[in-house]
Amino acid sequence: MPEQEACGYKDTRMLLQDTMQASGEPDDPAAWLRETDIVSYDFPYAGQLLAESFREWCGMAVLPFARSWEWCVLNYKGKFVETAEPAGGRGSLWKKAWEAAAAGSLLTGELFVLSAEDAGGSQEVKLLVIPVFTRSKGEIFALLGCAMPAEQFMQGGRYTAEAMALHYQTCFYRRFEHVFVSDLAGVHQHAERESNRRSLLFQIVQRMHDNIDVNAVLTEVIDSISAMYPGARLELFMSQDHRSTHPQVKPLPLRWGADDVCAKAFKDGRVALHAGRDNNSVEIGLPLGGKQGVYGVFHMMLDKPAFPDVDLRFLTMVADTAGTAFENAKLYERSNQLIRELRMSNELTQRLNQSLRLGDIFQYAFEELLEMFGADYCCILHLNEKKGGLEAIACNYPPLRGEIIDNGKGLGGRVYSSGEPLILSEYSGAEGIHSRLMAATQSQSAIATPLNVGGEVRGAIMLTHREPHFFSYDSFRLLQAMAGHIGLAVGNARLHAEVRYLANRDSLTGLYARHYLDEEIKERQTKDFCGTLIVVDIDQFKMVNDTYGHQRGDKILKQVSEIVKSSIRQGDIAARWGGEELAVYLPQLGIQQAVYVAERIRKRVMGETEPRVTVSCGIAEWSWTDDRVSVESLFYRADMALYEAKNNGRNQVVTDRKNAENSAKNP
Ligand code: GH3
Ligand code: MG
Ligand code: MG
Repeated sequence: MPEQEACGYKDTRMLLQDTMQASGEPDDPAAWLRETDIVSYDFPYAGQLLAESFREWCGMAVLPFARSWEWCVLNYKGKFVETAEPAGGRGSLWKKAWEAAAAGSLLTGELFVLSAEDAGGSQEVKLLVIPVFTRSKGEIFALLGCAMPAEQFMQGGRYTAEAMALHYQTCFYRRFEHVFVSDLAGVHQHAERESNRRSLLFQIVQRMHDNIDVNAVLTEVIDSISAMYPGARLELFMSQDHRSTHPQVKPLPLRWGADDVCAKAFKDGRVALHAGRDNNSVEIGLPLGGKQGVYGVFHMMLDKPAFPDVDLRFLTMVADTAGTAFENAKLYERSNQLIRELRMSNELTQRLNQSLRLGDIFQYAFEELLEMFGADYCCILHLNEKKGGLEAIACNYPPLRGEIIDNGKGLGGRVYSSGEPLILSEYSGAEGIHSRLMAATQSQSAIATPLNVGGEVRGAIMLTHREPHFFSYDSFRLLQAMAGHIGLAVGNARLHAEVRYLANRDSLTGLYARHYLDEEIKERQTKDFCGTLIVVDIDQFKMVNDTYGHQRGDKILKQVSEIVKSSIRQGDIAARWGGEELAVYLPQLGIQQAVYVAERIRKRVMGETEPRVTVSCGIAEWSWTDDRVSVESLFYRADMALYEAKNNGRNQVVTDRKNAENSAKNP
C-alpha cells in the first residue's frame, strides 16, 4: 500500500537522522574536507604544490588589461618559487626586488609595493607582493608577486591584483584538496585491497581445512592461486609418494637446474623469486610444507616486471595454510588406512583361527585376500615336498589349481625363490617376466609376496588384476602384512598336524598307536557295514631277542612293520598293538580278502626279514548284522584266532570264522 510505503520511508529517514544526530555526525558528509587546511607544519613541504597551482592559475584566462603584468609566487618565507615568464619577461630580473618586497609583506602581513623601472627605463613599474592566507587560521603560506605599469596601478590595478591573488588561493586549495583526497582514496583503496585479501585468505583457509581429502586440498590451493593471479602459469611439483590426478600436479623432477627457484624453495623451505632475463617476467618457487616436512613446491610464472612484497607474503600465507591442511588430510588418510588395515587383518586372523587344518587355512586366506584387495585373481602356492615343487593350492583360475610349478618359474616361482615381494604395474610392458596366470587371465597388474612359515619361505601369494596400475603401494605393503598373518596360521596348522601325527604314532615303527586304531575302528563301526582286523605277532620273538640282542630285535620289528605297511591299501590302518604284536584294520573288507592280505604279509615276512623271522596272524571280522558290535569283542576274537595259530605251530593265518565254525562243529 502506498500510504504504508510512504510511512515506512519516512520512518527510515527519521531513524537515520536520529542516528546521525545521536552520533554527532553533521548532515554534510564532506564538511570535514572544508575544515581541512594547510598548517604551518606543512609550509616547508608546500613548495611543489605552490608551483603547480601557480602554473595552473597562470594557464587560466587572465583579464585582458592584466596581460602585460608579470607574476611570481614566493613561499611562506618570502623566497622565490616560480615565475610565469612570458617571452622576453623580466621575472628573474625582479626576483631580488620581489623577495625584498615579500620580506616587507611578511613583516606587516599586508600587501607591499615597490617601485621599479622596466629594462628600458622608459616606464615606471610597480612591484606588488600580495600575501596569500590559509583558510582557517589566516597564516601566510605564500605570496604572489606582480609587476604592473604604475599607471595601471593607479587606476585600480592593485585591487585587480588582490582579487587575482584570491583566485590563486582558490586554485591552490582546489589542488590541495585534490592531493588530500587522492591520498585518502589511495589509503582507502589499499585498506580495501588488504581487507579483500584477508577475507580471501580466510575463505581459502576455511575451505582447505574443511577438506580432509588430500586431492581436494591440492585442487583447492591451485584453484585459489589461479583465481588470484589469472595470468599466472602455475604447476605444483609433489614428491613421489604424494601423487595426484590433478593435471597441474606433477612429480618433483629428479634433477634441477643449478639456479632453479623450485629447487631453492624446496631446499630452504622458503619462497624464492627470480626475475626473468628480459625483466618482463617473474618466476616464483613456493614450498608446500607442514610441520613434518616439505611435500612439494609451487612453480609460478607471471608476465610482470616485479612482484610486490605484500603479494609474496600473501602467497606464502596461502601456501603455508595449504601445507598444514595437506598434512592434516594426509594424516587423516593415513590413520584411516591404518584402521582399515587393522580391521582387515583382524578379520583375516579371526577367520584363519577358525581352523587348524591347512586346507581350510589356504581356502580362507584365498577368499579373504580376493575380497580385501578387490583383485580379479588370487593364487596361493605352497611347497609340496613330495611332489617336488610349488603346488597351486588355492586359485580361482581353475586350470592352474593343483598344478605343480617348478621353483623359480613364473611370477610366483620367482617370488618364492628370491624371497622378495614384487609389484608389477603393467605386464605387457614388463621384460623378462613370464606368468602363466597373468597371460591366461589377461591380467596387467600384480602384487606378490613370499609366504614365510617359521622363518622359512614355503610358498608365495599372488594377486592380479586386468587393469594396469591397479594395486597401490599401500596394497603392496598390506599384502606383505597379511602374508605374515597367513604364514603364522600355516605354521600353527603345521605344528598342530605334527603334534597330532606324533600323538597318534608309535615312535619305533612309525605305525599308528593303539589308541588311534581303537578310535578309528569305533568310528567306522558307527558308519560302515563291515570291517576286518588282523593281529600279527612275531613268532618266538623272545628267542630272537635272546639270540641277536634287543637292538637287532627292534630292527626286525621295524622290518616287519614296513612289510605290513606296504602290503595294505591306502585307507587301511596299521598299528602297533603292543610289544611285538601288530594290528591291521581293513575297513569295508570281508574276511576272505583279509586272509589274502594276511597271507601276503606272512609270506613276505618269511622271505624278506633278515635275520629271518615268521609271523602268525589271527583274523576277525564284524558286520552290522552282528548281535553286538564292539572293538573289544573284535580284538578278543582276533586274539583267539592268533592263539590258535600259535598253538597250531606258528607261521600261519587263522580266522575267527574258522574258529566259529570249529566251535560250531564241536559245541
Ligand atoms: P610266541 O609269540 O611265538 O609265542 O613267542 P614270543 O617269544 O614271541 O612270545 P612272548 O610273548 O613270550 O614274548 C614276546 C617278546 O617280545 C618279549 C619281549 O622280549 C619281546 N619284545 C616285546 N616288545 C619288544 C620290543 O619293542 N623290542 C624288542 N626287541 N623286543 C620286544
Ligand atoms: Mg610273539
Ligand atoms: Mg606276543
